[in-house]
Amino acid sequence: MTKRGSSDKKRIVAAIGGNPNSGKTTVFNELTGSRQKVGNWGGVTVEKKEGIVEYGGYTITFVDLPGTYSMTAYSLEEIIARNFIMDDKPDVVIDIIDAGNLERNLYLAVQLIEMGGKFIFVLNMADMAEKQGLVIDSEKLATLLGGPVVFTVGNRGKGIRQLLDEVIRVHEGTERKTRHLHVAYGNELEEEIQKVQKKVWRDKDLSSHFSTRWLSVKLLEDDQDVKKKLKERSQHFTAVSKQVDISRKHLKMVYSDEPENLIVDQRYGFISGLLQECLLMKRLERVDTSQRIDKVLTNRLIGIPILVFFIWLMFQVTYKVGAYPMGWIESAINFFCQGVSQVLPNSLFKSLLIDGIIGGVGGVAIFLPNILLLFFMISIFEDTGYMARAAFVMDRVMHLIGLHGKSFISMIMGFGCNVPAIMATRTLENKKDRLLTILINPLMSCSARLPVYVLVAGAFFGANAGNVIFSLYGLGVVLAILIGRLFRKTIFRGESEPFVMELPPYRIPTLKSVVIHMWERAFIFLKKMGTVILVGSIIIWFLSTFPLKKEYSVDYGRAVERVEERFDGEIRKLERSSENYADERARLSEEKLEALGEIERKKSREEVSQSFIGIIGHVIEPFFKPLGFSWREGVALITGFVAKEVVVSTLGVLYNAGREQEGELSLILRDRSGLTPITAYAFLVFVLIYTPCLATLAAIRQETGTMKWTLFSVFYEITLAWVLAFVVVRAGRLFAMLF
Ligand code: GDP
Ligand code: MG
Repeated sequence: MTKRGSSDKKRIVAAIGGNPNSGKTTVFNELTGSRQKVGNWGGVTVEKKEGIVEYGGYTITFVDLPGTYSMTAYSLEEIIARNFIMDDKPDVVIDIIDAGNLERNLYLAVQLIEMGGKFIFVLNMADMAEKQGLVIDSEKLATLLGGPVVFTVGNRGKGIRQLLDEVIRVHEGTERKTRHLHVAYGNELEEEIQKVQKKVWRDKDLSSHFSTRWLSVKLLEDDQDVKKKLKERSQHFTAVSKQVDISRKHLKMVYSDEPENLIVDQRYGFISGLLQECLLMKRLERVDTSQRIDKVLTNRLIGIPILVFFIWLMFQVTYKVGAYPMGWIESAINFFCQGVSQVLPNSLFKSLLIDGIIGGVGGVAIFLPNILLLFFMISIFEDTGYMARAAFVMDRVMHLIGLHGKSFISMIMGFGCNVPAIMATRTLENKKDRLLTILINPLMSCSARLPVYVLVAGAFFGANAGNVIFSLYGLGVVLAILIGRLFRKTIFRGESEPFVMELPPYRIPTLKSVVIHMWERAFIFLKKMGTVILVGSIIIWFLSTFPLKKEYSVDYGRAVERVEERFDGEIRKLERSSENYADERARLSEEKLEALGEIERKKSREEVSQSFIGIIGHVIEPFFKPLGFSWREGVALITGFVAKEVVVSTLGVLYNAGREQEGELSLILRDRSGLTPITAYAFLVFVLIYTPCLATLAAIRQETGTMKWTLFSVFYEITLAWVLAFVVVRAGRLFAMLF
């Protein structure tokens, strides 16, 4: 122990790290002058220098760490530097960065940030950077890195005093730039990081000493040193390493690449994004293909139109290409249905099978191709690296309204499914930002809503269906932004936290990864059909069939007899009066079938309307009446609370789609639902906006931790859905009148 002066003097330990030749030792010498102590790091021959400075009422001990390019524990130097930061926990870590070599030097900075702590980023060799013509927005850099930035010229002693001032400010906690931040790794990796982190958390001792996120990332990188430490210190080691193995295998399979490479790529992506924002350069350091593409795709002017175009393309493909396999599945179901219908005698069981199960589940099953295509497109966007650009481009827009690009990532994920999207907000550290992002996420139209859109838009908008669907997704985004803005101004006042939008290098997606992503979604969808949608359809069938005893307004048996008598009579008359009656007779039989069908439909409508569900439907009818929906649509919306696909199943059951010869629910809707294009659009708007599903509510409950926000989300979404659907109906009618 070195006892210096009055022992009550406040002490600070500051470690100095950085790449070799960044000028670390030079800065260290400038800081400490001659008061240095040279020794060796415990047991090894690497030199350890310490220097002590009295400044601003503090005794500051500076430790010159060995120069390293990274913190991967490949070399002795790296292990020493890392262990010092991990175990000794210096009060402040000073990262010396060669300003003329930003990209490479920031790689270490990113790794330091991940380990956690309080940082000062020193941009040394400021003179060299200036000569190169580099202009660095240090304010922004500091904000995004989460620590103050100081420019120095080590060999001329420039900036040293500012650095000393910062050491004290950072230590005292008065430096406003100091902030803890995460490096985001993209959905696929983030998911695995979280899985590992959950296991690491179990060890309270470990998680109170180290950043669990950092440990998890390191484990996924297969960092031997961290593994060894964990093995020595944790009783949960087996559970953790089991998860690590599973996660690493999964990542390898999806990307056909080592996870450590992916992680490195993402870190460089983080740096690319950072530089894109902070570096105004006259002469480009290194222009590679990724940067060239980025010049176009993240361009300030055309970036957003390009993004809109890609999303438009995505929904066009989803709808137009999806129509073919959809037709095949539909024919197969019809074929099966007719077979069953001929084999089985009329019974409750047959009704359950045809009206309930096939009408409900089958109605949803035909949308599998659309959903697969949607995920195909999303996965291509993600795997090529375009998704990160989308978030980058939107970042500026989001900032204008008090949110940031990180929220937009979760919004884009919401296009797939709101549940993982809401869970993905965990990477937002600011609680307000997080709540806000969670609350607006359901407005992002998930893939479960797609079947409803395809069905209804297909029925009422023909060739324009793709555009109508696209408009709904667009409306969802616009609403999310507006509502986000509103909430930010009212409930969640305050600034959003700045952060880096990473730009990982572009990759050509592997077929394997795309197929795996599609399969994962298909599996979830199929599982949902076999569980929620199946049970839902059966319940709806039950409610729409019972009670069995009905009072009819007309004697249907008698009506059928009358129709038969009339047509049979006419046919007989025809046979007697004319020789050439074959054509005429065929026409008459067809008309007869038509008339009988009409009676059958009327009867079943009356039956449904006297069933439990009809009774419920009539109770809620007034609520939906101003929107132009019949009670059937109303019931479908209510059952859609469970999951959005159920809206389609319910309509299928309520309109007896399974029993139709032609079988096409969309035709039935168009011809017999009483909806018009205007009210149909209002219906879709309602579906877009109101609560997506029970699973989403559960996710909101879990992530916000309170029922309060869960109920709030239900309330605001239903209100908004109703009001906007109403506006659509009114405005649509006004328009129709004017033009
Ligand atoms: P270390 O490996 O990080 O400890 O780097 P050194 O401190 O040994 O410095 C490497 C070389 O860079 C030395 O020749 C220094 O004189 C020089 N140097 C350090 N800081 C600056 C600076 O700000 N500007 C310029 N032009 N040279 C510097
Ligand atoms: Mg040195």
